[in-house]
Amino acid sequence: MDLSALYQSIILDHNRRPRNFRELVDADRRSEGRNPMCGDELTVWLKMDGDRIDDVSFVGSGCAISKASASIMTTTVKGKTREEASALFERFHDLVTGSPAARPDDPTLGSLAAFSGVSRFPVRVKCASLAWHALRAALKGDDAASTERQ
Ligand code: ZN
Repeated sequence: MDLSALYQSIILDHNRRPRNFRELVDADRRSEGRNPMCGDELTVWLKMDGDRIDDVSFVGSGCAISKASASIMTTTVKGKTREEASALFERFHDLVTGSPAARPDDPTLGSLAAFSGVSRFPVRVKCASLAWHALRAALKGDDAASTERQ
């Protein structure tokens, strides 16, 4: 099986039919992310249940990588605790930046492993990590104004 083709089809599928692509009306947190280099813009909504992410959604526009990454991010962190989501972001960031600590075979990455090829295209790292930066800002309670500084 050609794994790179499989991963690419996951990204194309999430770009075409993004999951959790809606405003979350009963959200208690919200943050915006912008990547001016590519023109990607998105908003992430969170509904927390104590320390756990009860629901998460996003709306935005941008390239296929940014939209697919946001879609897969929502499906990955839903139900996770704040700490688990942060740990996933660290592993995902290692993967897309090509860090020596990256472990593409880590089974806990699931669909996130689809983005391992991004490390060969440094200009795409911001596209792939935009939704995660917005998620982290929302978890911290930062609003749009502070995330737009990035
Ligand atoms: Zn982009």
